[in-house]
Parts: sequence; structure tokens; C-alpha cells
Amino acid sequence: MADQYILGLDIGGTKIEAALFTADVTTGPISSKRIATERERGYQNVLERLSQLIIELLAENSIAWPSLKAIGVGLPGTVDPQKQVMLNGNSQIFIGKSFAKDLNQYFESPVEILCNNDASCFALAEAKLGAGLKYREQFGIPLSQQISIGIILGTGCGGGIISNGKILNGQNGGGGEIGHSTLISNGHSCYCGRKGCAEQYLCGPALERSYGEKIAARELFERAGAGEQKAIDCLQSYQKNLIEFLTNLTSIFDPHFFVLGGGLSKQALLYQSLEKGLHAQTFVPQSNPVVYQHKVSDSAGVIGAALLTLP
Ligand SMILES: [Zn+2]
Repeated sequence: MADQYILGLDIGGTKIEAALFTADVTTGPISSKRIATERERGYQNVLERLSQLIIELLAENSIAWPSLKAIGVGLPGTVDPQKQVMLNGNSQIFIGKSFAKDLNQYFESPVEILCNNDASCFALAEAKLGAGLKYREQFGIPLSQQISIGIILGTGCGGGIISNGKILNGQNGGGGEIGHSTLISNGHSCYCGRKGCAEQYLCGPALERSYGEKIAARELFERAGAGEQKAIDCLQSYQKNLIEFLTNLTSIFDPHFFVLGGGLSKQALLYQSLEKGLHAQTFVPQSNPVVYQHKVSDSAGVIGAALLTLP
């Protein structure tokens, strides 16, 4: 029997990553490619360029189409796991679209395509191949018994909840939309129509805005590290919000650990006093979730997408 391969796609608002895996997936990508999403050119244009990218990736690795077993896709929004339709999200062009069905129209024969939310894919990759392994090593709890929450602190604030090795999708796939839970009553307006959503306080641009003048988040961390009071104040206020957020989530899920991804998660200073602040506030005194920095590479999203195709 010929070897079988899995393809993972991480579809973001600005870029798309495609990666090829052996059927095992856990050994990591054997080859990958990136393109810009260019969502302003429309949905059909994205599908066209994406199908081209997939065909090229297979050709470059001398893989014939029938050897592709399945494609796993992380989309930037809520994906109904039964209907495989994206229901909401920041990238409007994908809303209401049957992505799997539409992409398959570009191929010589249909292949199994499974979609889920991109942050849930990140959380799944970390639970199975990253932070979950570290937690098992530290505390002896097997992966199959862990509850974890992956949070992406980037241009938005996405989340994925993993329970006993599986994504908690909820009824419609909205199970991990923690960024749209209220953090500040009657706070900043969110694109979702509500006010005070966690995303409006925890995304990278929110931290940058709080400084009052144009600055990249990375530089704000550098200035705080160098002792600049204004930057330290911004960071402390951000951390206070993050601790409130993690405390709320702990009250609902009592997870073994959180794992942070996205641009802000790369800053070591972010983690200072984070666990201490969280553990001081949990309702159940024994609840003391670990807060990990992401352990899987920058490609966690695409790896998690590929993992969707495994039983
Ligand atoms: Zn919102």
C-alpha cells in the first residue's frame, strides 16, 4: 500500500500556512508553504490560490493525489462541527461558507476535509504535543485526563478548550469563543456588537493603545523591562485584566493548565506574577492551573489542523 499523507491548513486573516505530514502527524511537518490571504480579493480568489498551493506542495514532494488521505483546516472563526460552516469571525469572507465543500470543487477527486476554529487547533496541538506533555511530565496526569485552555493573544483573543484529548466544540462550535465573554461591564465596543469583551482588553492592539502613543507591543515590553514607569503601568494593568480573565475561566472549567500563544505570549515579562495572581483568586483553593508559554513551534495552528483528521 502506498504511503498516506495528511495536509494541514492554517487560514488566518493575513496569511495562510499549508503543511504536509505523514499519516502519523505527530512527527511534525515534512514540508510547508505560506501565502498571503488577501481576503480583500474575495472568497473565490482565496480558494483558487489555496488549491493551487496544495497542488504545488504535493507535486514538489512527489505525492500523487490519491495518497492524500485528508485535509484538516483551522479557520479564523466559529466553525459548526457538524455542518462544517463558519458561523462568525473577524474575517467576513468566510462567514456562512461551506469551506470544505467549496475547496473540494477545485480538486480532481474529493478528499475528506475537516474544519475547526484556528485557536482550537492551537489548543489541540499544545494539549497533544506541547504543554500537555510537559504537564504530564511535571504532574503525572495522562493526556487523556487533562483539561486545558489554549489562548491566543495576538491581533485578537481566541481560545480553545480541550477536555480529555478532544476539542470542546459545544452545540454549534462556539465552545471556545472566550474572547467574547465580558471582562469589563459596559466597556469598549467590540465588533461582535457587545461591550467590554475580553478581546478588547487582551489583544495586542489593546495593549498598544493603552500606552497612548504609537508603539509596537514588543517595544512596550522592552521599555517596561528597562524600567520605564509608563510602560510598566500599561503592562501591570494588562496583566490585571488577564488574571481576571484566567480566574473567570478557572471558575468555569477548573483546568489543569492554560497555554498562551500569539505575539504577546512570546514576552517573558508577561508571565511575571501571573500564576501567583491567579492562584490567589481561585474560588477552589486547590485550583492552581499552570500558565505555560506555548511549547509547540509557531506552526502549532497548522499541526493542530492536521490533528483534526486523526481519530
Ligand atoms: Zn466581542
